[in-house]
Amino acid sequence: MSETKSFFQLTGRNREHLAAWSDHCELHRELIAPLQALCERGREVGLDISVASGFRSFERQLNIWNTKARGERAVLDSAGQPLEMQRLDDTQKVFAILRWSALPGTSRHHWGSDFDIWDAAAVPADYCLQLHTDEYCKGGPFSALNVWLQEEVDAHPDDLVRTGFFRPYTVDGDGIAPEPWHLSYAPLARRFEALCDSAALKHLIADSDIELKAAVLAHWDTIYTRFIAITE
Ligand SMILES: [Zn+2]
Repeated sequence: MSETKSFFQLTGRNREHLAAWSDHCELHRELIAPLQALCERGREVGLDISVASGFRSFERQLNIWNTKARGERAVLDSAGQPLEMQRLDDTQKVFAILRWSALPGTSRHHWGSDFDIWDAAAVPADYCLQLHTDEYCKGGPFSALNVWLQEEVDAHPDDLVRTGFFRPYTVDGDGIAPEPWHLSYAPLARRFEALCDSAALKHLIADSDIELKAAVLAHWDTIYTRFIAITE
């Protein structure tokens, strides 16, 4: 199977499409202007929309996965409490990690079209950002941002006349946990979604240096359906 440049971009192994958003964050260059427009809309209502995380490479996602699999980085349960990984078998470990972290090659953060936001106007300068759902719920510092996103983004998903953004992880099913902070830019993200191919991604995982590989491959079809394929 020969890999195309778009498959390299899909899987976080090509940076040609990126531009700097800040000194710690890169995004797809076609996202810079629409995101600046979104930030401007936010400023009009007192929000200071800040990007916590944008593009993430395959290598970075592989490191996150492997350190979680080895118990070197905390793995949280659905309530956000740390799990005792040594008590889980390999299959349980795989599904515990998948609740909060994508397999390398399958993260929407590989695309440069997706990013995590918070509101710098709502917290002190030394605030330690958690990206925890409590922060975005009623009573949390970013609840105003969340309510604003419901009106500006969730009510008009993919609408280029409005913002062009949507939130892919707002509903809690049996897959990825809700991530109210995660935004996608539809014109780019929908293109990448269409490139997702179960067999090609499975092949990439099989070829990689990933922990828990046997358990991942044994449950591949379930993993693809629950955590990778977009079902809308
Ligand atoms: Zn995210």
